[in-house]
Amino acid sequence: HEAIDLNVPALSFRDELNTQHKDELGLMSDLAAAIRSGEGLYLVYQPKICLQSGKPVGLEALIRWKHAVRGELLPGSFIPLAEQTSLLSSLTDWVIGESVAQLVKWKQSRFLLPVTVNVSEQDFSRDGFADALAKRLTDAGLENRLLGIECLETEKIIGSPQAIKGLQLLKAKGFSVALDDFGTGYSNINYLSKVPLDVIKLDRSLVSQIATDTAARIIAKSIITMLKELNYVVIAEGVEDAQTQLALKNYGCDQAQGFFYSRPLTSAALEAWL
Ligand code: C2E
Ligand code: MG
Ligand code: MG
Ligand code: MG
Repeated sequence: HEAIDLNVPALSFRDELNTQHKDELGLMSDLAAAIRSGEGLYLVYQPKICLQSGKPVGLEALIRWKHAVRGELLPGSFIPLAEQTSLLSSLTDWVIGESVAQLVKWKQSRFLLPVTVNVSEQDFSRDGFADALAKRLTDAGLENRLLGIECLETEKIIGSPQAIKGLQLLKAKGFSVALDDFGTGYSNINYLSKVPLDVIKLDRSLVSQIATDTAARIIAKSIITMLKELNYVVIAEGVEDAQTQLALKNYGCDQAQGFFYSRPLTSAALEAWL
């Protein structure tokens, strides 16, 4: 009977792994179908506010997925899985196509703000990525400055000549290139100069304690001063109160994003908000 007792947990553990694996496979095949049909996927846009003028000067596109069975899904629940498959590049293409289509609509209406999309290193390292992006904007009758990319993972970028070349080509064509989530993970400041970037986005973890923590305030102030001396446009993420906004403005930060101004909104809700 001892053998049976030992077998029961082992079996159920294997079943659990199997279930999780099947679940992930199911989610990815649903995602493939969603990308093909465009059903359930949509973008929300979060404004970026100029701290000097108090006006919105740009938008970040963030993906959402309304799954028929699982309901509303945030990117954290499917992007990391998609990154392990070839689906990610199809998803990136969908996000770019949708952003360009939205920009065309906005160009026809009263307002037109530049939009940034989140692009993984594996995507902008692809041969011809910058050319394909430039072609999409030309075909849509839009200037390249209206689209920008936000990238993560400095570590992967500095280790990859392909990635650095990809960013250089994007910059040369007039697309803005931002480093996302600065201050998390690998933020070796030494290597910053090796990556062609226009914009640095300070991660929420650096920003969220400014109002309450003296050390966090000093660190944020020093980082912003340094980045401004290096001539980057600096954007703070995750601003949730007026006190943080004021401190960031005093430190010379250029733009801010966060729930204090607006959550990410559907295009219709954003038009009303603007
Ligand atoms: P991110 O690019 O750093 O985006 C900022 C995240 O912080 C968003 O979460 C946004 O909703 C959230 N946020 C904004 N302001 C505040 C605030 O004041 N307080 C708090 N607590 N949160 C705030 P979201 O939309 O869940 O996206 C998470 C991450 O998923 C993004 O981080 C980005 O890395 C990735 N992601 C989103 N859309 C895409 C996409 O289309 N493609 C790819 N490859 N990744 C995407
Ligand atoms: Mg981002
Ligand atoms: Mg970010
Ligand atoms: Mg983030």
